[in-house]
Amino acid sequence: MHRFENKIVVVTGGCRGIGKAIAERFAREGAFVYALDYRTPDENEVFIEDATIRDRIVPMQADVTSFDSVQKIVDDILAKSSRIDILVNNAGITRDNLLMRMSEEEWDAVLNTNLKGAFICTKVVSRPMMSQRYGKIINIGSVVGTMGNAGQANYSASKAGMIGFTKSIARELASRNILVNLVAPGYVRTPMTDKLTDEQKNAFLVNIPLKRVAEPEDIASAVAFLASDDANYITGQILHVNGGLLMD
Ligand code: NDP
Repeated sequence: MHRFENKIVVVTGGCRGIGKAIAERFAREGAFVYALDYRTPDENEVFIEDATIRDRIVPMQADVTSFDSVQKIVDDILAKSSRIDILVNNAGITRDNLLMRMSEEEWDAVLNTNLKGAFICTKVVSRPMMSQRYGKIINIGSVVGTMGNAGQANYSASKAGMIGFTKSIARELASRNILVNLVAPGYVRTPMTDKLTDEQKNAFLVNIPLKRVAEPEDIASAVAFLASDDANYITGQILHVNGGLLMD
């Protein structure tokens, strides 16, 4: 099924982890995807293993914390593809620490990338979407944006901020047929969570009714649903994808 034939998609943080799985899902369903990332793959590196979709995912270097960087890339994309139908604000970082030890740099880095980065990308991409009178924006939050998590005050605050941001922008842009939603993953198997200790991983698993962590593809499925025509009457919503860890 090709739900996204001829759609132009931008995924931030799209060269690794969940973002890459999202990019691959859209490409498999017919879209052309720009995978923006801080570090793009080396020229001799096989970025996309599946040769059937390789020519439909283009990695591009961008720093979501910089207006200039994002504007330049979006101008390039518009010059090549004329439009952007779907934006996925996925780029995110963690700098975990207990509050008493958390530095101002750790706080600022996480808020800048996760929250301000989504603001910058949304502001820049919403302009062409407004002229098109069409757009789907999907923000990637986290279960800890609702639950909180000891050692992640900066990260949880950034993801809670994404919820308010999503709902406000959904209200602002609805009249232009731009729909904005947030997917809140639980614990997903990616390079980000590979850094956690076994103790931290087990603490999550005992509380997950489905008794497994999510694969990046589980998150990609939820993003694709919200970006599809099946979700044309859904905006300003938070879709939790967490195996039952949190039932909101
Ligand atoms: P990864 O670290 O695997 O991927 C995140 C990507 O974002 C990386 O490629 C990273 O680049 C990129 N990135 C970071 N900073 C910037 C920047 N300033 N500009 C452009 N790109 C940037 O993380 P995940 O795939 O695990 O996470 C993806 C999203 O999902 C994040 O928003 C995360 O908060 C969220 N999430 C993840 C969960 C999980 O369990 N993994 C759970 C809940 C939410 P680089 O590697 O160079 O830093």
